[in-house]
Amino acid sequence: MQLPDIEFAHQAGESPTYDMLLACSRCATCLPACPSYAATLLETHSPRGRVQLARALEEGRLTASPKLLDALWTCLDCRACESVCPNGIHPGMLATEVRAGLQESMPFSRRIKRLILGPVLTHPLWLTSGLGMTRLFYQRTGLQHLLRGAGLLKPFGALARMDRFLPAIPRRTVRSRLPQVVPAVGEKKGRIGFFLGCAMNTIFADVTERSIRALTKLGYEVVIPRRVVCCGAPQESLGEMDLARKMARHNMQLFDDVDTIVTDCAACGAALKGYAALLDDTAAEAFTGRVQDFAEFVAPRMPAATLDLGAITYHAPCHLHHAQGVCKQPKTLLKRLCPGYRDLPEHERCCGSAGMYWALHPEISEDTLARKLRNIRSVDPRVVVTANPGCLLQLMGGREDGDTWDVRHISEVVDAALDKVMEKPEAGG
Ligand code: SF4
Ligand code: SF4
Repeated sequence: MQLPDIEFAHQAGESPTYDMLLACSRCATCLPACPSYAATLLETHSPRGRVQLARALEEGRLTASPKLLDALWTCLDCRACESVCPNGIHPGMLATEVRAGLQESMPFSRRIKRLILGPVLTHPLWLTSGLGMTRLFYQRTGLQHLLRGAGLLKPFGALARMDRFLPAIPRRTVRSRLPQVVPAVGEKKGRIGFFLGCAMNTIFADVTERSIRALTKLGYEVVIPRRVVCCGAPQESLGEMDLARKMARHNMQLFDDVDTIVTDCAACGAALKGYAALLDDTAAEAFTGRVQDFAEFVAPRMPAATLDLGAITYHAPCHLHHAQGVCKQPKTLLKRLCPGYRDLPEHERCCGSAGMYWALHPEISEDTLARKLRNIRSVDPRVVVTANPGCLLQLMGGREDGDTWDVRHISEVVDAALDKVMEKPEAGG
């Protein structure tokens, strides 16, 4: 596979908009929504605190320090504060932008992480190869089973955490299973592009195959461009703004011949819809307007069906609910398809996964996960549905003894419902 022509740049991003910093009225509406504030009860780790820190930096009243960097890096970028702020402030995005501007002040270890992770996460080939080796030498040999059973990873905190959240890796990626164009089932209603996220292509290949099959069962021919690279979300989060822009431009031109671009990864969808702000040009704006999340695309097209999955509930991924504003469609779909649907308290609150956050900030991640688990237990579901790879990993790996629920992507529910629709005998037949 030929790598796309992407240079690795490591320049700082632009400073945050000063007007936005001034617009904060310090009302505190955002504090109860913020997971890092709930875990630490520190004003510096709240949306309001981060806005004030960014303002002090901008006005020269503050210089970079380890405490300041910690306050900025512990933001999960969950965007929950944006959904409640009466003044339209984006503290999560501000934290990311300020981080980008402070690259040179970062501790050596974090700069090394940025220099390695930025480029390594750029191309799906790296992830595919790494996961393929993990599958072969760690999972297939039985080493994972052995280490888990004997509890040998427990003394190595980060490794034990990674192992806990690592599911069985499928043998084949979506790219190697499906052709570039998957034909519609039955009468063709249209042609759509599918953006293949890195984790969905690999760890959740079985899920994404079902997402694509479901779209074809709805009558759509699905084009899966082979040369897509990562959406750029991890690079943006690491402050690699120039690299993220190059990746965005590369991805955009691969979807020129389709009107709609669908993805089943909430984080990728948020990044793709963010290309307009990232690139600030009309082509990116037009591209952004064509992107839809899987549930957003399917909800208005889904035929009536009933699935008996028992008690089922929905956890909303932050990057779908807060970042994309896709709030009603997943719940509407599930309520229509599943008679056992139950609302999850605080369904829009982060689960603590947040990209690599679960590995980098385990205490806050665990606190956030614990609150999510308490809410799920209060509903006592058989199935928890979500729509993002990070949430799937967190909710699967986070289960404790006695937590018997299954975790599913919404496309698996939709695909099973469409199978039922297709099984129905023709009227009068
Ligand atoms: S960020 Fe928004 S919600 Fe939070 S204190 Fe400022 S104005 Fe209020
Ligand atoms: S994005 Fe999430 S973690 Fe960051 S400040 Fe807002 S609510 Fe807190």
